Amino acid sequence: MSRQFNELKASELYCPTCRTCGPVREKALSTSGSPVIELLCARCRTVVGRHTTTEDKSIGGKLARLAGRLFPRSK
Ligand SMILES: [Zn+2]
Repeated sequence: MSRQFNELKASELYCPTCRTCGPVREKALSTSGSPVIELLCARCRTVVGRHTTTEDKSIGGKLARLAGRLFPRSK
């Protein structure tokens, strides 16, 4: 159990077009309602997944997440 999953949870996904796992890019879609984030294959731009961020529908939520990244919890 020496493996650590830091921030690599969704950095690579299986792409049916490339037939292999590869890096993905997040693309936010501005739809009416809850925001949708599409995960595109970085090579062929095939949509390999998508998820909605129903929790962060407010700007405050986004700022909170950004703040969490910029200012990680100090020990
Ligand atoms: Zn691909």
